[in-house]
Amino acid sequence: MSVSLRPAVLNPLYARITTLPGIGPRLSKLIEKLAGEVVADLLWHLPSGIVDRRFSPKVGDAPPGTVATLTVNVLAHSPPPPRNSRVPYRVTCEDDTGRIVLVFFHSQGDYLERTLPVGETRVVSGKVELFDGRRQMTHPDHIVPLAEIAAVQRVEPVYPLTAGLSPKVLDKAIRAALDRAPDLPEWQDAAYCKRQGWPAWHDALMAAHAPQSETELSPLSPARARLAYDELLSNQLALGLVRLKARKRRGRPINGTGKLSEKVVAALPYELTGAQQRSLHEIRTDMASENRMLRLLQGDVGSGKTVVALLAMLTALEAGAQGALMAPTEILARQHYETIKPLTESAGIRIELVTGRLKGAAREAVIEGIQSGDVGIVVGTHALFQKDVEFHDLAIAVIDEQHRFGVDQRLELAEKGSGTDVLVMTATPIPRTLTLTAYGDMDVSRLDEKPPGRKPVDTRLVNLDRLEETITAVGRAIEKGAKVYWVCPLVEESEAVDLAAAEDRYAVLKARFGERVALIHGKMKPADKDKAMDAFADASKGGPQILVATTVIEVGVDVPDATIMVIEHAERFGLAQIHQLRGRVGRGGKEGTCLLLYTAPLGEIAKARLETLRKTEDGFVIAEEDLRLRGGGEVLGTKQSGLPTFKMADIAVHGELIAAARDDAKLIIARDPELSTPRGEALRTLLYLFGQDGAIRMLRSG
Ligand code: ADP
Ligand code: MG
Repeated sequence: MSVSLRPAVLNPLYARITTLPGIGPRLSKLIEKLAGEVVADLLWHLPSGIVDRRFSPKVGDAPPGTVATLTVNVLAHSPPPPRNSRVPYRVTCEDDTGRIVLVFFHSQGDYLERTLPVGETRVVSGKVELFDGRRQMTHPDHIVPLAEIAAVQRVEPVYPLTAGLSPKVLDKAIRAALDRAPDLPEWQDAAYCKRQGWPAWHDALMAAHAPQSETELSPLSPARARLAYDELLSNQLALGLVRLKARKRRGRPINGTGKLSEKVVAALPYELTGAQQRSLHEIRTDMASENRMLRLLQGDVGSGKTVVALLAMLTALEAGAQGALMAPTEILARQHYETIKPLTESAGIRIELVTGRLKGAAREAVIEGIQSGDVGIVVGTHALFQKDVEFHDLAIAVIDEQHRFGVDQRLELAEKGSGTDVLVMTATPIPRTLTLTAYGDMDVSRLDEKPPGRKPVDTRLVNLDRLEETITAVGRAIEKGAKVYWVCPLVEESEAVDLAAAEDRYAVLKARFGERVALIHGKMKPADKDKAMDAFADASKGGPQILVATTVIEVGVDVPDATIMVIEHAERFGLAQIHQLRGRVGRGGKEGTCLLLYTAPLGEIAKARLETLRKTEDGFVIAEEDLRLRGGGEVLGTKQSGLPTFKMADIAVHGELIAAARDDAKLIIARDPELSTPRGEALRTLLYLFGQDGAIRMLRSG
């Protein structure tokens, strides 16, 4: 880790939550899961509701069914009979208008005697109920002495919780975090804030945590909109700075002769689609220009991105330079290599694979070839970043599934060349607003047309109750030679837990189908993963036909004769993710089937989401629909996809703010690219506030 130059005022916010009073190891685990590891994460954990405790009637007037804060005298305690835990502990209280019974289940008598001493006055707040014609309050939310009434008699924020964490504890932690929030210099344009009616940052934060009405809970309320905008501006500014850096390195015109690509195209067993031709034209135009290319090639699984990337790299080769293609995993890199290699044979090009597993003399030879320019195309993983991998002349860097790489890593590969053009490929059908947040202002080419002859995947929703039938049906299918992916539930977004689920399912299927079942998961060594994938992909008879997997089955992995995709707990996945998984089957000309197993009952939204998958195969429609139905953060199973997640901004609601933030960031960068004006300084603080330290490193490295 490099040393961060984060301004000292922010240090309290970047302290771990365990530095907050009363947060020990047990609570910190819960809070980490809910909000995050550092104090700042608690600031971004905004209330999801309110309870109005200002209503303070007399006992006799307190309407049943409402939340009330009552001032009462404690009259008498009636503990349950010994050893009968089903009878509650009752405490009778009164004021001059009537009586109310406080009811406690499984409570400690001595604790209640201390909190509610007979003869004393207490303030109790909670929901008033009517039971047998008498008023009662079960487990009041607050019981305090009269002197502390003000702390209770307010509009109380309600926070999203997690099992095991009590509202009081979380509230206390959040208050402590808020106490640490410093006043910060204004980084927003004052006139813009004024027009929007937005408070200053600190005021906005306090207001967002003290909503006085339902309206103030709206993400469009001034306080929340301001905080969301701060977050979005930091995102857009960070992306803008990365882009600025990329642009600073001048590009150079790369003009292909067409010689190599024509040969390869002629040898293809198919015609390029219109979308492929159009994208290729866009890419080549960029390459031919003086500017550096920064282009995103978006296209569904199976839309044929690889051949476009190859032809772009060949353009570089025709100009006497080299091309590199980087994938996020070993499996994907190897698969690209194996797809591309035979295609380039007719053109007599040397192409090599560089991964962490390339070692010793073999590696030496490859490295040398890359350096001498003898190797025309290099396919690889992160291993390409290694220092001693030096290119003779790298003209184009293609990065596949880029969103798994960090924002600043995007350009690292390009640094291996001079004026290197960058093409980022993604199979994630990203809604337009999200494209902005993930890629900033990259130019986009879309492969929105599938190669001909693809049959739609028959997608069905199946209640998990019918697991047995599903297994039987799968059994019949493999008898006929089918290959089946079985993707296991994404439960905790933690590899360990997901793995347990996959292993259980594997055991069940193995008991039924024996050696015909294989398991693949993220914790396996790359070599073992490859082996499992290879065995499954092997077209000869006798190998495994069911591949049980956590979601590690890589989006780009190609097993053409796989026809069935079973996805357990489909309701827990992002739609785009399912859509990508589904794209894995039915690629070899045979019709594919996708079974989405869900646990009943499905909520209305969950149902609508899965129905969307059944109804359409257009990745972009699916992504937009998921965004509409679920709102920003959860689309795409964001955590898995590595796309940016926002803490306060919601891309489904704040679309306009995203566009405004983009424009704002552009203007800032045009006027103050070093962030050296007073506002620029404040904006640096904003970047640090949202952990965009990488972007600031860009500034420093100039
Ligand atoms: P992606 O990387 O976009 O998921 P691929 O590049 O792996 O897609 O292409 C998927 C499959 O489609 C490959 O088997 C490829 O050979 C084939 N393919 C690509 N372009 C065409 C085309 N124009 N016509 C027919 N098949 C194509
Ligand atoms: Mg260029």
